[in-house]
Amino acid sequence: MPYLSSNITIEQLDSFQKETKDLFIKKNTSYNNKLTSQGTINNIIRINDIINELDSITINGETNNRETNIRDTLIELLNSVTMRIMVLDNNNYNINKWTIQGSSGNIYARENITYPDGRKIRTCTCPSYKYSTNESKYCKHTKNDN
Ligand SMILES: [Zn+2]
Repeated sequence: MPYLSSNITIEQLDSFQKETKDLFIKKNTSYNNKLTSQGTINNIIRINDIINELDSITINGETNNRETNIRDTLIELLNSVTMRIMVLDNNNYNINKWTIQGSSGNIYARENITYPDGRKIRTCTCPSYKYSTNESKYCKHTKNDN
């Protein structure tokens, strides 16, 4: 087992990241997607609140569960920072818009969005795209468009 430092393994890192990911999803679901829908400013305020909370626990917290409270609060901080970075990435997308003429002669609006992490979203206003029942929608216009 490879070590990252003295006694921390990649296996421990994987396990920890799974724990924080599960908590992130659970919390986001329980707050009805509040985490993903909150704005940048709210997220920054939340991060400041968590840091203040961390100070408060460290200085004034009960000694018997201090370590647990610090751990829980640090995970909350990690997940809020993660959300902040993802919101930032989503705001930093590249968008291309143009119109095309379909085989019926109708004009459709096309849109390609590319995110910094490589995710691509292709949309079209044609009926085929609109009524596409696939998990990720597509039509003949978006299909071969990379
Ligand atoms: Zn289309």
